[in-house]
Amino acid sequence: MKKHFETEAIRIQTERSQFSEHSTPLYLTSSFVFDDAEDMRASFAEEKEKNLYSRFTNPNTTEFVDKMVALEGAEAGYAFATGMAAVFGSLAALLNAGDHIVSCNSVFGSTHGLFTKYFPKWQIETTYFKADACHTIEDLITPKTKILYAETPTNPAVDILDLELLGKIAKKHKLILVIDNCFATPYLQNPIAFGADLVIHSATKLIDGQGRVLGGIAVGRSDIIRDIYLFSRNTGPAMSPFNAWVLSKSLETLAVRVDRHCENALKLAQFLETLDVVKQVRYPFLKSHPQYEIAKKQMRQGGNIVAFEVHGGIEAGRHFLNKIKHCSLSANLGDTRTIVTHPASTTHSKLSTEERLETGISDGLIRVSVGLEHIEDIIEDLKQALS
Ligand SMILES: *Cc1c(COP(=O)(O)O)cnc(C)c1O
Repeated sequence: MKKHFETEAIRIQTERSQFSEHSTPLYLTSSFVFDDAEDMRASFAEEKEKNLYSRFTNPNTTEFVDKMVALEGAEAGYAFATGMAAVFGSLAALLNAGDHIVSCNSVFGSTHGLFTKYFPKWQIETTYFKADACHTIEDLITPKTKILYAETPTNPAVDILDLELLGKIAKKHKLILVIDNCFATPYLQNPIAFGADLVIHSATKLIDGQGRVLGGIAVGRSDIIRDIYLFSRNTGPAMSPFNAWVLSKSLETLAVRVDRHCENALKLAQFLETLDVVKQVRYPFLKSHPQYEIAKKQMRQGGNIVAFEVHGGIEAGRHFLNKIKHCSLSANLGDTRTIVTHPASTTHSKLSTEERLETGISDGLIRVSVGLEHIEDIIEDLKQALS
């Protein structure tokens, strides 16, 4: 019988050493040794499953990957130094010059930068669709299209894309569906169940959950992961064993942490909806969310990101940040500490108001990454900053 999420996250473990340790030790070693010439030959020929060198595999990264593969319902995976290394390494392994990507325009800023500024250097072009316009995707597909790429919930506007629909489109047109599942975590949403071929995570966010280490991972179909692995073992974006050790421990508590994150986020969203100074609140599990039904279909809970709009545009957003006392002003998200950001004056300030609106960011939009502090203290801080 397949074990439950919490059990897999805790009990999948590297084989015990001769010391009978209970918790997996840290294997800080760059390389591994062989018994004799034949052992070494067979290991390099991949006739044996053995660690050769930590740029390829290491017991700690393997444990982290094995857990993520089980938690996402994937066949295989590879762990990267950062989420962006996972995005770049995966796509660079799969794409050739002349290939085309169809992507949602509301993707992580550096991913957008990769598609817009760097991939064109290798004749890889991207066409964007808006988060609320998935019905237009098929019109954008050309004979050169190879990848369909999206995130859901999106950042920072918290739109929800219909994974089942994306899965059907990808299948019909024989595209590789790549989903960045960072905001949902494997606990809340499993895109592979809806037809995704590859799932990418920045483990830096809720998977670490405590703002300590960077990490990334790609999991999915074994033939795709094989290409990503071979590309990566030659190009070197591997996760460090130390970070893998931290992140594997973090997975043991992911379910309980994310449960509380979601409980706090829903309470905050419900509170914000009662305020007159707030124009609009966006949280997937609020009935007022335009894609509430889709969120209910594909997510276990609504996640930890709440976005809301204050009246008064950019100045009102800046004023709100200045009045915050307890929450952090920081670019990270998915931390134990609640973090507030104002995209229009920070991460998205280089775009024009019109360009921002294209990706769902109004000038007064505030994004809250709801943490694990007591909910009454979180609400109190936002309440006084909005008064
Ligand atoms: C943070 C983030 C990334 C990049 O991850 P890093 O670990 O910072 O490189 C990619 N996608 C999403 C959705 C993110 O939030």
